[in-house]
Amino acid sequence: MLCLRNIDYSKDGREILRAVNMRFKQGMSYSILGPNGAGKSTLAYILMGVVKPTEGKVLLDERDITDLSVTERAKLGITLLWQEPARYDGITVEDYLTLGGKLRPDKDELRRVLELVGLPYEAYAHRFVDKSLSGGERKRVELASLLLLRPRYAILDEPDSGLDITAGELIEKVLNYFKRTGTTVILITHHEEIAAKTDFAYFLCAGRLMKKGFSREVVEYYKKTCGRCFLAGMMTD
Ligand code: ADP
Ligand code: MG
Ligand code: MG
Repeated sequence: MLCLRNIDYSKDGREILRAVNMRFKQGMSYSILGPNGAGKSTLAYILMGVVKPTEGKVLLDERDITDLSVTERAKLGITLLWQEPARYDGITVEDYLTLGGKLRPDKDELRRVLELVGLPYEAYAHRFVDKSLSGGERKRVELASLLLLRPRYAILDEPDSGLDITAGELIEKVLNYFKRTGTTVILITHHEEIAAKTDFAYFLCAGRLMKKGFSREVVEYYKKTCGRCFLAGMMTD
């Protein structure tokens, strides 16, 4: 189990997260739902070790991993799909997905995973992961790479952003795939239809946890409040 315990985060004297507690059990899927600027990406960075909390702890199976680096956490099976996908000049989709040959998925699995994210093998395996691919296509490539890695934890920061109308279907397929491989998904989004697809959800607003529970309950609450909360005035963007 991955836990955030009493997380505070401030930057330049500004409070971004306050007293956040979350638990992510093995094999379950979770959404972190909230408006722009709520602190969702910051939470993702704290889970991945990109950012260190000002107060509080990150625990993995009771072990304190707050001081571990991104690389050390990756070795423990924690992975992050960044909100903005990167570009890699001179690296093909197949190279990228197999870590330059280090990872050896069978050809069928590679095809299956590419197919799942909507990138047929023949058309995409030998394309370069550079600016010749659209942002949406690069996001799909990164999703495929997480599926192949079979991590223990997959943190997906707005996987739906930059994707077209088929995003909902794609996210559903990704969630089903991860369910089968036993991967815990932490899906960050500001779309309630996407959040409704996971088992559980947390609603974050102005850096505070406002509601947690079964996704459909949290989504109902979010709809009722139109994603607003009494703390919204505290946000500057
Ligand atoms: P979300 O992902 O929910 O949109 P973020 O975690 O990106 O929210 O940001 C939370 C708040 O922290 C926002 O108000 C944002 O402006 C602020 N913030 C994010 N990164 C920085 C930074 N590097 N320096 C100062 N403020 C930041
Ligand atoms: Mg945002
Ligand atoms: Mg964000």
